[in-house]
Amino acid sequence: MNLDQITSVSGEFDKDLSSVIVLKELEELRIKYLSRNGIVSGLFEKLKDVPKEEKPAVGNKLNALRNYITENFNLAKIKLEEKGSAGKQSIDLTLPGTQRQIGSKHILTQTVDEIKSIFKGMGFSTFEGPELESDYYNFEALNFAPDHPARDMQDTFFISKDFLLRTHTSPVQVRVMKNYKPPIRAIMPGRVYRSEAVNARSYCMFHQVEGLVIDTDITFAELKGTLVFFAKQFYGNDLKYRFRASFFPFTEPSAEMDITCYICGGKGCKICKYTGWLEILGCGMVDPNVLINCGIDPEKYTGYAFGMGIERTAMLKYNVQDIRLFFENDFRFLKQF
Ligand SMILES: [Zn+2]
Repeated sequence: MNLDQITSVSGEFDKDLSSVIVLKELEELRIKYLSRNGIVSGLFEKLKDVPKEEKPAVGNKLNALRNYITENFNLAKIKLEEKGSAGKQSIDLTLPGTQRQIGSKHILTQTVDEIKSIFKGMGFSTFEGPELESDYYNFEALNFAPDHPARDMQDTFFISKDFLLRTHTSPVQVRVMKNYKPPIRAIMPGRVYRSEAVNARSYCMFHQVEGLVIDTDITFAELKGTLVFFAKQFYGNDLKYRFRASFFPFTEPSAEMDITCYICGGKGCKICKYTGWLEILGCGMVDPNVLINCGIDPEKYTGYAFGMGIERTAMLKYNVQDIRLFFENDFRFLKQF
């Protein structure tokens, strides 16, 4: 063994160290150079064969080699460990992101918003009122006779003798007429309650939008024009419609509006009960008795009112078969809208 051999081991170590990337490779390097059977120990073994006069110089060089390798090995180890722990905390920007579920407006809210926006375009304001009402606002002022079947406990949730959960949004019409002078042009969206058995077609709670127009010279023709315009905006421009005579305590004359069944196009199917028509709303000219009850002179003013169920409207428009789906909050249903 001579000094050149020691120098070449130092060079070999430098080359090996420069290619180390992970700690495992560094450990292999330690075994190769610094272990009991490693290269450095091997060189020290050979020291006994070195001629006596060369021993101090070779010994010094061997010690220096061992220090050099040990120092550089330790430095490399610290660096790799730092890099390793930093790697665990850093974010891998190449990984796909976590998808978050974004909420949306409930389909009933969307439907009310759309109805509101169509009527807003025709100059209607929006009014709301209490869900807990008195018998007066819900029935009496609206011309319901004392023995009207809707006043029966079977149909209405009474809280006490005089108070109840409103069965329609019409009491808001009474409040608007009592508080504002004509001209009135307003819609009243809101939640209503009926004591009905829950099934695919009816629910004990649902939503309505009612409308009211009071002014001088308001005619049934304007009522028709307004509702036909609404129906075409909401259900589509090419629909056919008809008005059928009907009865409500608070309007005279009263009518129901039908549109052609969008499923069968009027030929007749299960949805339209094979008539080819779908009823979309009820309407009529405000009964003079209601105007008098609300402090409006029926000799001077006339008006019309209309109302539709929001659930029914959404069921017709989006072909929903079961009203209960609106209230179950099943994500599979809600996310379709
Ligand atoms: Zn049909």
